[in-house]
Amino acid sequence: MASTTASTEIGYNSKIEGEVVHTQLDSAINWFRKNSLWPMPMGLACCAIELMASGASRFDISRFGAEVMRFSPRQSDVMIVAGTVTYKMASAVRRIYDQMAGPKWVIAMGACASSGGMYRSYATLQGVDRIVPVDVYISGCPPRPEALLDALIKLQEKVKRDRSAKNLKQDSGPAQYGRLGLRLDSPETAGKSAVHA
Ligand code: SF4
Repeated sequence: MASTTASTEIGYNSKIEGEVVHTQLDSAINWFRKNSLWPMPMGLACCAIELMASGASRFDISRFGAEVMRFSPRQSDVMIVAGTVTYKMASAVRRIYDQMAGPKWVIAMGACASSGGMYRSYATLQGVDRIVPVDVYISGCPPRPEALLDALIKLQEKVKRDRSAKNLKQDSGPAQYGRLGLRLDSPETAGKSAVHA
């Protein structure tokens, strides 16, 4: 008889029996999602240099499955806002966020993106969370690439606990359901709580 082992690696309530893994569909979907976050690099100022550095071999963001930087909002699910958000740029940031497919997440990288930083001026948005919902804030001016990796790990923990896939149902009409059978009318931002890295 095959041995049965509880595992937290795949998801909650999962068991490994021989070569078969039993788990819940939503925890498996969350596991896939958290290990394949595709960033939308929103480099707006000097913090973007640190964002670029995180892709170098010294820091190696690909260890976390997040090295696939997409420059198309339609192919990304985590926006990394790195730098000062001016009012002139704010509408473009919001539009790109709107064009990203859900579920989607936002990391505010650095003091400027998180709070406006030292730019207490008429031209600067005092935090990107005024226009998009932020999941993880990173402090620092500039934050080091390690801080971004730490934020990614925190975001992965958040994605792992996401309950939006709980809305899977087989018995309703297809009009309400999109890819993977997820409800289209489920606001993925509902009940979001931000994390400070
Ligand atoms: S937080 Fe500092 S390094 Fe980052 S964009 Fe603002 S001024 Fe530049």
